[in-house]
Amino acid sequence: MTILNVCRSLRDSSGGAVHRYCRCLPCLSDPARRSALGLKVALVMLHLIYAGVLFLFDGGLIEKTKREPWYTGAYLALFVITLVQYFVTSGSSPGYVIDAMRTVNEVNSIFRKTATVSKQPASSKGSVVVTVEGSQLGRPLLKDSGTPWSKLVLDLYPPGTSVRSLTCSYCNVEQPPRSKHCHDCDRCVLQFDHHCVWLGTCIGVGNHCKFWWYICEETALCLWTGIQYITYLKSNILSAWWKDAIMIVLLVTLSISLIFLLLLLLFHSYLILTNQTTYELVRRRRITYLRGIPERVYPFSKGACRNLYEFCCLPSSKYRLESLPTALELEEKSRPYTCTDVATCRCC
Ligand SMILES: [Zn+2]
Ligand SMILES: [Zn+2]
Repeated sequence: MTILNVCRSLRDSSGGAVHRYCRCLPCLSDPARRSALGLKVALVMLHLIYAGVLFLFDGGLIEKTKREPWYTGAYLALFVITLVQYFVTSGSSPGYVIDAMRTVNEVNSIFRKTATVSKQPASSKGSVVVTVEGSQLGRPLLKDSGTPWSKLVLDLYPPGTSVRSLTCSYCNVEQPPRSKHCHDCDRCVLQFDHHCVWLGTCIGVGNHCKFWWYICEETALCLWTGIQYITYLKSNILSAWWKDAIMIVLLVTLSISLIFLLLLLLFHSYLILTNQTTYELVRRRRITYLRGIPERVYPFSKGACRNLYEFCCLPSSKYRLESLPTALELEEKSRPYTCTDVATCRCC
C-alpha cells in the first residue's frame, strides 16, 4: 500500500467518524455551526485555564479564601456572570429584517381583516415589536399597492427613492436605513454593527446592549485576574521557576487581551453615545445615505443622553426603525456650537 493510499484510508475513516458523530448530534452537521461551537469551547477552556492555574499555584489565594470567602466568592460570581452573558449574547437575535417584515405584514393583514384602524405607529406580534421614528408617524399602512413593509421602508427614505434600489439581492427584502446583509448569517440585520466571530452571531439593534455588557464584564474579569496574577508573582518570587514562567506567559497574554478589550469597550461606548455603528463609522464614505455628510456630524444622534437612554432602555425584542434625517435636520446638526447651546445642553 502506498503512502497515498494510507492517507486516503485515514481520511475516509476520520470522515466516517465525523459523519457518525454528526448523525448522533444533528447540530454538528453544519461546518459553520461546528466552528462556532469549537470557538465557544475554546473560550470556556481559556477562562478555566486562567482561573484554574491561579487556584492551583497560588496557595495564598486559598488561605485568603478561608479568611475572606466573600473575595473569592465575588471573583467566581463575576467569572460565572461573564460566561453566562457570553452565551446569552451569542444566542440572542441581532434583529433580522425578515422578522420585522413578517411582523409588520402579518399585523397589517390582521388589521385589514378586523377593519380596525390603529393610530399606533408601532406594530406588534408575539415577542417582536417594531417601532418607527420619523415623519411617517401615525400614517396608516393600509394603502392599495405594495406590501405594508415596502411602504413603511419607503417612508423612511427621501421621496423618489425606488423600492428596487432598497431590495437586498440575497434575501429579497426591502432594507430600512442602517440595515445590511450579513454574508455569514445570510440575512439582513437591522442597525448592523458587525459579525462577531467569537460570539458566532451578528451584532445589531437587538443585541448591541448585551454585547456591550459582555465586553464590560469580560474587561472587569480580565483586570481582576491580572491583579491576582501580579499579586502572586510579587509575593512568590522565590517559588519554582517553571511556575513563574507559566504565570508570566499567561499574564502577558492576559495584558494584551485586556488592552484590546479596553479599547473595544471605549470604542463601543463612543458609538453608543453618538448613535453610530461600527459599519457606519468604518464604511462612512461608501454608504450612500452617509455620503456628503461632514465627518463630525452624527446623522442619527439625538444627543448623548437620549442616545444612551434609547440604547439601555429599549427592550431587546423591540426593533426601532429610524428614518434618514432631512436636509434641515442635518443643517441643524452641523451648526457650530454657541455659548447658548452649551448652556441649554443642546447635545443632551
Ligand atoms: Zn439580505
Ligand atoms: Zn452575521
